Amino acid sequence: MKIPFLTLALLSFSAGAMSAQLPTTQPQAPGYYRMALGDWQVTAVSDGTVTVPFDTLLTGITPDVLRQRMADASLPVKAETSINTFVINTGSQLILVDTGAGALLGEAGGHLPDNLRAAGIDPQDIDLVLLTHIHGDHSGGVQHNASPVFPRAEVRVDQKDVDFWLNPANDKQVEESQRPTFAESERSLRPVIAAGKLKTFHAPTQIIPGIEAIPAPGHTPGSVVYRVTHGGKTLMLWGDIIHAEPVQMQQPKVAIHFDVNQQQAIATREKVLAQVAKEGDWVAAAHIAFPGIGKVMKNGEGYRWVPLNYSASGN
Ligand SMILES: [Zn+2]
Repeated sequence: MKIPFLTLALLSFSAGAMSAQLPTTQPQAPGYYRMALGDWQVTAVSDGTVTVPFDTLLTGITPDVLRQRMADASLPVKAETSINTFVINTGSQLILVDTGAGALLGEAGGHLPDNLRAAGIDPQDIDLVLLTHIHGDHSGGVQHNASPVFPRAEVRVDQKDVDFWLNPANDKQVEESQRPTFAESERSLRPVIAAGKLKTFHAPTQIIPGIEAIPAPGHTPGSVVYRVTHGGKTLMLWGDIIHAEPVQMQQPKVAIHFDVNQQQAIATREKVLAQVAKEGDWVAAAHIAFPGIGKVMKNGEGYRWVPLNYSASGN
C-alpha cells in the first residue's frame, strides 16, 4: 500500500503534537505464555517481579565477581526478578504449580489470579495445586483474606516442609532474617488445612501418571522438583534451584541466605543442573526471567541458560 505524502506528514505532525499527552501505561502485557508438551499444554503465568538485592543475599562469591556476572547479563546487583507459576492442562485436569506471593510482597506479587484470567483460566477451575516448597513467594498466593484462592483444588506439598514451617519451634534452625517465614506459612496454609484441602506426600512419589515429585532438599527441607513426562518430552518444574541465573548457572556453588541449608542446596543444584544438561530436558523455573522456560547447556566448568525460542502458536 502506498501512503500519500500528505497523509504521512499529517500523521507525523499529530504524533508529535500529542506525544506529551500520551501517558505510559501499566501494568505489563498479560503475563502468560503457552508451550505444548505432547497433547498437554503448559502455561507459564506471571505473579509479578520483585527486586532482589543479590549483593547482600548471595554467598560464596566476591562482590567484584558478582558485579561482573550481573553486568555480563546487563543487570545491576539488585535485580528485578520474576516470580513464575505454571499451569499444566492434561485434558482432564488443570494443575497449578506454585501460587506466587499473594499479599506477602505488596504490589510486587499477587498478580497470578488476574494473569490466569487473562490466559482464559478461572482460578475456580484449578483442580490441583502442587507446591514446590513452602515459602512466601510460592505458597503465599494459596489464600486471600483467609479463604483458599483455588477453592476446588487439593493442595499438595511434601510433608517435610509442613513439619518444618508449621512448627515455630524450628525457628532456631534458620537465620534470623528468615524467621518471619514461620508466621507467613501459618497464615498461608491454615485456611487450606481448615478447608480440608491440604494433602501432603513423601517424595519421591507419583502425583498422577506423568507427574512425579522428586526430592530437592536444601533450599527448604521438603523442596521438590516436579518431573512432567508426556508425549516424549520431559519438563522439570524447578522451584528454587536457581535464584540468580546469571551467577548460579555458571557457579552452582553460590548459595543464598534464603536457603535453610546452603550446603545441601548447593549439592541439589549441582545434581539437578548436571541431570537436565545431560538429558536435554525442558526446565520451567520460578525465578528465571519470565516465562522461565528453557534448557541448560554445559558451559566450561558450569552451565548456561538457553531460553526457549518464542512460538506464536505455542508449540
Ligand atoms: Zn522462591
